[in-house]
Amino acid sequence: MNSGVSTPQGPVATLRRIAFLLERGREDSYKVRAFRTAAASLLPLGDDEIAARAAAGTLTELAGVGASTAKVVAQVVAGEVPERLARLEEEYGGPLVRGGEALRAALRGDLHSHSDWSDGGSPIEEMAFTAIELGHDYLVLTDHSPRLTVAHGLSADRLQRQLAVVDAVNEHLGSNGFRLLKGIEVDILDDGSLDQTDQMLGSLDLRVASVHSKLKMDAADMTRRMVAAIENPFTNVLGHCTGRLITGNRGTRPGSRFDARAVFEAAAEHGVAIEINSRPERRDPPTKLLEQARDIGCLFSIDSDAHAPGQLDFQVYGCERAEAAGIDADRIVNTWPRERLLEWARR
Ligand SMILES: [Zn+2]
Ligand SMILES: [Zn+2]
Repeated sequence: MNSGVSTPQGPVATLRRIAFLLERGREDSYKVRAFRTAAASLLPLGDDEIAARAAAGTLTELAGVGASTAKVVAQVVAGEVPERLARLEEEYGGPLVRGGEALRAALRGDLHSHSDWSDGGSPIEEMAFTAIELGHDYLVLTDHSPRLTVAHGLSADRLQRQLAVVDAVNEHLGSNGFRLLKGIEVDILDDGSLDQTDQMLGSLDLRVASVHSKLKMDAADMTRRMVAAIENPFTNVLGHCTGRLITGNRGTRPGSRFDARAVFEAAAEHGVAIEINSRPERRDPPTKLLEQARDIGCLFSIDSDAHAPGQLDFQVYGCERAEAAGIDADRIVNTWPRERLLEWARR
């Protein structure tokens, strides 16, 4: 009974927490994978078997459990706080940013997230579990569309299959109040059309439309392209509108040039939310554009654009910026209850 496995954080929870902290601290996913893989490997085992293996030193015989993850597990089983966990809590467990806390507390969900079906690092259910742990009522799964081949964008067929998985995850979660919602981050093609069939777009709860290609297009053409996407009745959210990168291992690039007034006025007219993309390397839109969209009367969404569970916690970065810009919480669509959000997204 008193094996230590029944301490508040068992081995699986501890491994997941370590992975979460590494992701939240923006460590590369290869550093995180070992912990997530080991957690998945231990999940089906009972506490007794884990404890027995820890005692016999045979944890590493399990597929996906290596020396460093076995050490963490052995420490948990012995009732100790693993050194690795303590170090990461110290390094990455504190507040990410000063400010934005009140707005973060008002958010009920996240409209932009990726799983390992496209270029995310974790399975769908792991993203959902973490969203629940962060207190969300909903998470919209928005994997990429077919044209973004580098990110394994989903064909109509794969998206159709993914929707069945989303249904299964929701069924498994039962009625605890949380819902994983069906979405897409659909590419805005050069002519402003959306990179998925109308039939598939119509079977989703919510659609984020983003530019990922030809970011250096002439400003007049880019404006036409973005306005056309906003006028598309399927579009709910305009993702990371400038596409700029300001830091990080993908390098930096300036934002696309376009007539921001025309784009934001179209968004305001059509009830499309301007995304405040919380990723630290994006901080998109830049502050001047954010204030312009505010003054034009746009709706907003504050999204993590998480590609790993720990990155779901990035939203507070966007909250800090929205708060600094004085944007009312009621204009931020993911402060709305799920039913109101879904009604708005049904256009
Ligand atoms: Zn994107
Ligand atoms: Zn994205």
